[in-house]
Amino acid sequence: MPTRNKSTPTAPSDTAERERRENVHPDGWRNPVPAARYSLVVIGAGTAGLVAAHAAAALGAKVALIERHLLGGDCLNVGCVPSKTIIRTSRLYAEMRHATQYGAQIPGDIRIDFSAVMQRMRGIRARISRVDSVRRLTEAGVDVFFGAARFTGTEALTVDGTTLRFKKALIATGARPDMPSIPGLDEAGYLTNENVFDLTELPRRLLVIGGGPLGCELAQAFCRFGAQTVIAQDWPLFLPREERDAAQILSDAFARDGIEVRLNTQAVKVRVEGGQKLVDLVSEDYQSTVAVDAIIAGTGRVPNVEDLGLEAAGVDYDNTDGIRVDDFLQTTNPRIYAAGDACLEHKFTHTADASARIVVRNALFLGRQRQSALTIPWCTYTDPEIAHVGLYVRQAREWDIPVKTFTIPMHDVDRAIADGEEAGFVKIHVKEGTDRILGATIVARHAGEIINEITLAMVARIGLRTLARVIHAYPTQSEAIKKAADAYNRTRLTPIIQSLSRRWLQW
Ligand SMILES: Cc1cc2nc3c(=O)[nH]c(=O)nc-3n(C[C@H](O)[C@H](O)[C@H](O)COP(=O)(O)OP(=O)(O)OC[C@H]3O[C@@H](n4cnc5c(N)ncnc54)[C@H](O)[C@@H]3O)c2cc1C
Repeated sequence: MPTRNKSTPTAPSDTAERERRENVHPDGWRNPVPAARYSLVVIGAGTAGLVAAHAAAALGAKVALIERHLLGGDCLNVGCVPSKTIIRTSRLYAEMRHATQYGAQIPGDIRIDFSAVMQRMRGIRARISRVDSVRRLTEAGVDVFFGAARFTGTEALTVDGTTLRFKKALIATGARPDMPSIPGLDEAGYLTNENVFDLTELPRRLLVIGGGPLGCELAQAFCRFGAQTVIAQDWPLFLPREERDAAQILSDAFARDGIEVRLNTQAVKVRVEGGQKLVDLVSEDYQSTVAVDAIIAGTGRVPNVEDLGLEAAGVDYDNTDGIRVDDFLQTTNPRIYAAGDACLEHKFTHTADASARIVVRNALFLGRQRQSALTIPWCTYTDPEIAHVGLYVRQAREWDIPVKTFTIPMHDVDRAIADGEEAGFVKIHVKEGTDRILGATIVARHAGEIINEITLAMVARIGLRTLARVIHAYPTQSEAIKKAADAYNRTRLTPIIQSLSRRWLQW
């Protein structure tokens, strides 16, 4: 858990927060009298747990859902929803600063009202919390228990002193921020996703440690709100999983925003002096100290596997990789399954959702759905966004799969030019000699939207030849996909076909 010292902000208690609380953990809630035995007991009410509980109950199963903190888990409370909401406002501020490029004038100075930004976020989060509410669950027939669950055997667990027996159970306990072990950091105090959205005042100077999706998204948003921001990443590039040219575009965008980028750099020591946090940063040939008012740690996520009594349940796990599951998401106890961040490599809301659906089919209906059959896209919501699905070229090389890549720069796409959003590209990899899409990386303002078309094509086995026949509305940024498909079609024009066609036309 993040350090709860005096620099930890306290969430304001406004109407929005009261509504969210009422939806996701009402005061004075009394757990129901448990059924003799449940068809499915779900531990954790984040995306995975909620999806599984609703789906199983709708199909007629007797379901209990146990949550130790807030329904909605990370995504609603401290993840996707608050981060995407503040990112939207930060983009507006960035656009206002560049208004003259669009032929618009902002009269006077742009005044950033950070507390209003966070108030808007809380309002939106409260509104979305209705979907994850205890009322919707109970109306669906789910027994909701608040408290920490712990297995007492292979077919039973306890919550708040009550024993629940189950035919099948689902572990959907999610993940939490990985705490970096930097001397002095705990004492100085720092923020993670678990408390950064409680801020009501903008830190004047900010250090973000970690250049993964979370660090990159928050660094850009806070910089655009006006915080003097440094981001330190111990790799040579941001988003190390992504293709190098994609990560390079992000570095350039950060530099344009005014973020001080420190790549290949580690934060090694923190101390507090005169009310400010002094952080020693070390890179190969350079050592420096930055003075900041707040530090955000975005150094990865670890699965929640502790204190669950997994040994008593006969469930194997690992503190780094989480609950051990097979391709059917079954644990080493055949009655118990896992889903979401607690067991998956790809820790996203949509994978939590997809894995929960697999569990409902496999656990309750003798299904044999495999997680390896999923085609999983993802997106980092920086500006530009960076989205990916399927294979990377380096993976194709490792597996000896010959690949041909079609790349369309966004500066060749009319809508991106009109929108002033030319940074980025659409890059589609096909199996050489075929039009079968193996993967794609998209860097664009709306990459997260555009990638869905490629994912659909991959799932439905639609190749580039067919995509070339799909009429894309003009002008749209996803026309880049059509252009890539046209580029593929041109490669099918062999010299013989070209010469025949020329002769035919001359005749
Ligand atoms: C800042 C941030 C931004 C993100 N943005 C995105 C995004 O834009 N898109 C995206 O796809 N993903 C995003 N993610 C990831 C996404 O939030 C997670 O992948 C998703 O929430 C995982 O869902 P889950 O159900 O597996 O786990 P969680 O949402 O973590 O839910 C697990 C629940 O289990 C409960 N629990 C744990 N142990 C117990 C116990 N013993 N007893 C009872 N309850 C227990 C926890 O309290 C928690 O509520 C983001 C994450 C962060 C941190």
